[in-house]
Order: sequence, then structure tokens, then C-alpha cells
Amino acid sequence: MEQQTGEKRLGLALVGLGHYATDCIAVGLTSSAYWQLNAIVTGSHEKIPAWQNKWNIKEDRILNYEDFDRIRDCEDVDAVYICLPNSLHAEFTIRAAEAGKHVIVEKPMATNIEDAQRMIAACESAGVKLAVGYRLRFNRLHQQIANLGSTQAKGKVNFINAIFSIDVGPAEQWRLKKSLSGGGALIDVGIYGVQAARYITGKEPVAVTAQFGPVTDRVKFAEVEEHISWQMRFPGDIYMTGYAGYSGYLDELSIRSAGAIIKLDPAFSYGPLHGVVRDEKEHLLVIPHEHHQWKQMEDLGRLFLDPAPLPEVISGQEGLRDLQILLAIYQAAACGREISL
Ligand code: NDP
Repeated sequence: MEQQTGEKRLGLALVGLGHYATDCIAVGLTSSAYWQLNAIVTGSHEKIPAWQNKWNIKEDRILNYEDFDRIRDCEDVDAVYICLPNSLHAEFTIRAAEAGKHVIVEKPMATNIEDAQRMIAACESAGVKLAVGYRLRFNRLHQQIANLGSTQAKGKVNFINAIFSIDVGPAEQWRLKKSLSGGGALIDVGIYGVQAARYITGKEPVAVTAQFGPVTDRVKFAEVEEHISWQMRFPGDIYMTGYAGYSGYLDELSIRSAGAIIKLDPAFSYGPLHGVVRDEKEHLLVIPHEHHQWKQMEDLGRLFLDPAPLPEVISGQEGLRDLQILLAIYQAAACGREISL
């Protein structure tokens, strides 16, 4: 389909029509200049009519998980966006790559290193792009603080604190089943703090320590952690502390550098996010709110149309690096010792 810009519009298949696909990605797609939702993949028949009517999706572009490989024959699908429970990301990424489709996969990209490596290898060998759905890498406020930090514009960053906790909701859900989620609050929302520390410092952590927090509901949190705190040591005496939780909302990021304190509050949720820099004075970081998933999809559209490889910061390698750190944090919490990376 031709755009006003004369550029080709990319065809997308959404895989898994839950909260994130419905309330976030599809909302971003409604005003997209780059993407057309041409296919859906779902295991829930009752969801089909609403999607089919809203997006005018053809009958043979409605797939289920068993017949997903038919995606190969959907010539109007350039990429799939995988919004499934975490442990299913690998299977559908690999099947999409083998069908010759580019992949956007939600965070965390996988629940174990082997799966992440297989996903990267499958996309490489099929010659398709693999992007992890790191929406904040496209957010201008986060881009600005990453830039302030990594360029040392406010002096050398020496400490970061990141807190992200959500109310996870009912007990009967995949997030609380380890075989589907791979872990609890850390792998789900703590990943944002790990990411932020890496892109603000521009460095990789050398060691982690961690502690599991109290469990207030032993039935609900029988398989995954409810609370976790961790610490990351970076080269050059830079430290990060993080907290992730599943029982109540908290959402803040603080960065202390030689010349300033930078705060985001809220920091990681869907926004609007608020940022402030305090040096001799207090300066608001005035960046108009843009719908996170709309901005992500528009930037991804340009990147997918460009034959150049995707930027490292949203690549499979970046997702793998985060996963290695998250798994080291779990190991540190379980054994009570510092784990070197
Ligand atoms: P939901 O539970 O709301 O949706 C997941 C969907 O996956 C279900 O609705 C279902 O879709 C499908 N599904 C297939 N197999 C299963 C299964 N065995 N159990 C449960 N669902 C299944 O989860 P979210 O949408 O919140 O999360 C999906 C992914 O998106 C996760 O990886 C999560 O980490 C990520 N996410 C990312 C966010 C971000 O800000 N980047 C925010 C929220 C989530 P259907 O009925 O169509 O088959």
C-alpha cells in the first residue's frame, strides 16, 4: 500500500492478542504511517470478530498457534510482533524467521540463554531482522537522559537507583507460572532498571549482588519472586541499585553525577513521564509526551524499511545481554554471593 510519503507500508502480524497487543501496540498502529495490520495469530476464537472488523483482516490472515507456519504464504506480512508469554517467544520467533518474516519480540526476549541464542541464530540464518520491543529506547526523554549520562554532560555518573513495581493482579495468570514467565518481578519489570543503568552509563556491569524480598502471599508467589533488590557494579566505581516488585505501584529513576541529580518520576510506565535535572537550579526536562508504542512502531518502520542492520540497542544481542544479567541477578539472590559477569 502506498503512503503519502511514497514509501511502502509494512505488513504486520500480531501474535497473541492480550493486554500488550490490544491496549498498547494496536493503539499505536491506528495512526501508523509505516505499518498495516494484515494478520492476527490467536488461540481465542472469541477475540477474532472485533479484530477482524476493526482492521479489515482477511479470513485467511487469521491464524492460530498450530497453523502459524502458514504465515510463510502471507505475502502481505513483512514482520510479526510476538506478544506472547515469555517462554513462548523463542518458538514463535524461530518459526517466523524460518517463514522468512522479520521479528519484533517482546521483552524479555527469552527465559534462558540457549533460547535467546537460537532466536538470534535463526534470524541471522534466515536473513531477517530481530528487534526486541524495548519501547523506552525510542522515548525522547530516555534518549535524553541516556545522552546526558553517557556523554557525562553533567559530570561523571556515579550512582543510579531504579525502582519499578506493579500490581501484578490475579493469581491465575502466566506471569506467576515460572514455566511461562521465566521469573517474577525482576525479569518482567526489573529489566527496565537493568537496561537504564546500561544505557545511562554506556558501560556493562562487572558484578551483581541481589536479595529476594519478603513473600506476602505464599500461594500466589509460590513459583516466582514477589520482591527483589539488586546491586550492579560497573567499571570506574559506578554503582546501581534496583528494586522490582509485584505488589503495589512504584516507578522512579534517580541518577547522581558529579554535577547534578537527574530524576524521572514516573520513569518506566507508559507515560507521560516526568524528568528533572537538579544542579545549581532545577530544570524540568520538557519533552512532549508521545504514545510509547506509536513512537516505537514509527521508528521501527523506518528501520525495517532500511536495508541496514537494526541499531545494536534494540537487537537480539542486546536482549541476550540483558538476559545474561537478569539470570546472574537471580543466581546472586539464590546463593547470597557476588556474581561476576
Ligand atoms: P497477556 O496475558 O495480557 O497476553 C498474552 C497473550 O498471549 C494471551 O492473551 C493469549 O493471546 C496469548 N497466549 C498464548 N498462549 C498462552 C498461554 N499459555 N497463557 C497465556 N496466554 C497465552 O500478557 P501481556 O500482553 O501483558 O504480555 C505479553 C508479552 O508482552 C510479555 O512478554 C510481556 O513481558 C510483554 N509486555 C511488554 C510490555 C512493554 O512495555 N514492553 C508491557 C506489557 C507486556 P490469545 O488469547 O490471542 O491467544
